[in-house]
Amino acid sequence: MPQLSGTGAVEMAGPQVIRDCSTGLPGLVREVTERDPEREAVRSGGDSLNYRRLEAWSDAIARVLRTDAPEGLPVVVAVPRSNALLAALLGVLKAGLPYLPVDPADPPVRLAGVLETAGSRVALVSAPTEPVLAGHGLRTVEVESLRPAGDASVLPLDPLPVVPDEQPVYVLFTSGSTGAPKGVVLPSLALCNRLLWMRDTYAVGPEDRILQKTPVTFDVSGWELWLPLIAGATCVFLPPEEHRDPARVADAVQEHRITVCHFVPSMLREFLRGPGAARCTSLRHVFCSGEALPVAVARDFATSLPARLHNLYGPTEAAIDVTHWTCPERAADIDRILIGQPVDNCVLGVFDRDGVLVAAGEEGELRIGGMPLALGYLNRQDLTDQAFVPAGADASVPTWYRTGDRVRLADGGLEYLGRVDDQVKIRGQRIEPQEVEHHLGSHREVAAGTVVAARIGDDVELVAWIQPAEPTAEVPEGLPRRLREHLADRVPPAYVPTRFLIVPELPLSSSGKRDRKQLRQRAEEQLNVARTPVASRPADGGRPLLQRLMRERSGRTAASAEEEDPGALASIWYEVLPQAAEGRAEARFVSLGGHSLLGARLAAEIHDRLGVSLPAGYFLRNDPTLAELHAAVALADRPTDLPGTPTDAAHASPEQRRMSPLSGMPADVERPVLVAMDTEAGAR
Ligand code: AMP
Repeated sequence: MPQLSGTGAVEMAGPQVIRDCSTGLPGLVREVTERDPEREAVRSGGDSLNYRRLEAWSDAIARVLRTDAPEGLPVVVAVPRSNALLAALLGVLKAGLPYLPVDPADPPVRLAGVLETAGSRVALVSAPTEPVLAGHGLRTVEVESLRPAGDASVLPLDPLPVVPDEQPVYVLFTSGSTGAPKGVVLPSLALCNRLLWMRDTYAVGPEDRILQKTPVTFDVSGWELWLPLIAGATCVFLPPEEHRDPARVADAVQEHRITVCHFVPSMLREFLRGPGAARCTSLRHVFCSGEALPVAVARDFATSLPARLHNLYGPTEAAIDVTHWTCPERAADIDRILIGQPVDNCVLGVFDRDGVLVAAGEEGELRIGGMPLALGYLNRQDLTDQAFVPAGADASVPTWYRTGDRVRLADGGLEYLGRVDDQVKIRGQRIEPQEVEHHLGSHREVAAGTVVAARIGDDVELVAWIQPAEPTAEVPEGLPRRLREHLADRVPPAYVPTRFLIVPELPLSSSGKRDRKQLRQRAEEQLNVARTPVASRPADGGRPLLQRLMRERSGRTAASAEEEDPGALASIWYEVLPQAAEGRAEARFVSLGGHSLLGARLAAEIHDRLGVSLPAGYFLRNDPTLAELHAAVALADRPTDLPGTPTDAAHASPEQRRMSPLSGMPADVERPVLVAMDTEAGAR
């Protein structure tokens, strides 16, 4: 339980546990290897490695890095989710260097900025990612080529070096409010402490199989990758791309009898909606983190699965998570969600605006101290000094990290209340709106842009309010598309707003600042009206093409659900993307506000109602129109046992189709409509 300081002010200390981490993560893994070298360490597709083989492979990588990689500089890792990834990361740590995972699909400008800040010279790559990193001037080492051939059991393993507690283990870049991402550097002891706490708290052991599905550029991957290896368990890689597809996740859990896995809450909601979730009975522990866990999702979980659901909380600036809370087992007992108690060797404080600890029950900003803390931001002492502040002479820790999170100590643990600043979370991804605004502002057609996260239906979406550079009564044709393309060249996909709202002038608050709160509320009002359910609309788009393709298909004799009910696919499209009803029939998925979870929802509905499986990531990758979706469905593989029958949803009412653009402007139709926004209305 938390220890309150004498004044009743909220300072909480997790259990103090002394553990030997002097050989770092490689030493913790080696203990397992020495105990049970033949045990399966990692599995990916049909490829499996035991601990011995994984160690031998990572030893070979470490040997190359010891001679080729400059001391102290992070080694870039650009290897897709696979056994080679884990060998690469372990090899980097064995060489006494931090790893810097990058997504080669990131826009080249952003990738270049990250690489320049890090100063890295060497990248571990796979054959497909090699050209990208070589293109940035890095010396590349292809990891697969270092895989030891033959019988690894006869090879002696290399001795392990001593690892100082402060030795950096990874650098993870996160969104920066200055417009450029910033690299968080985590020390060895922080990560070892976090992993050992998790292993011991949830009794993770050799019988466990942990699903690795979080992209390695996010800190959650830290425990998904390393927890199995320090516990003697098996790390099971979900194939690249499939983490966005709840049906694939459910399949993988069942196929590999996964016992432990993680979801951001918005993904957990999608997962629980799918028919596969209830069959995931091998799960023992499911962990949520990254954004607030809604009560409704936790209740759904409790009624769907026998596993325990845990809510973890933490920023990248501390080792993955610093608090934990386990949801009650029975749905009826879940009436609130807490972030709970500090993990081992972690100290937390809740402070008011003046930097004074508040009393229990009062709201304040959460600060983190103790073992979990990162060392700071790579080569950004200025940002480090702002966020990691001296704790003062009478404090129990030397440094606090100011999280920017509003919390209060409730009965039973900490409760998360929101942010003190503008940072937002979109499907678990941390985004500083200023980073997006910085790039919007560099577009010549934009006078000003403000980005907010608005709750639209069940989802939180990134919405950009734009004041065009040229004052005009008409919105320049295609402006949202041009802005989207502009951003896509500069920031990761999740940072690109799904909706653009164009106004003659952005409202300012009484103090002359951007009025984000008002713009968020206004966006929610407008876009939620635009979502008034439109169950279906006559399916016209793409019919001739679809029929032609269906006729052309050879070897197909049985009539499919879609062939029997040509409106079924359109029904699904308009149900999941209600704003499509306002746009032109040929509007594309992304321009209708489509994002990864909506893509997953469409894919799940199409699978359940039409029996057609589209490839993982189809919607984001192909950005189809309804007509193109018809064509893809017509060509897709179909299981012979078509599940379910298509629903016969009602057609939209004339009122729904006549929805006024000014009362509920669909954010991003091909020709966006100028929203008249007067300051009086804005001041409401
Ligand atoms: P990141 O650095 O990407 O891990 O994001 C950290 C931020 O995500 C925190 O500062 C919180 O704002 C938010 N966050 C993480 N976990 C939770 C949680 N369990 N509940 C609410 N917010 C969370």
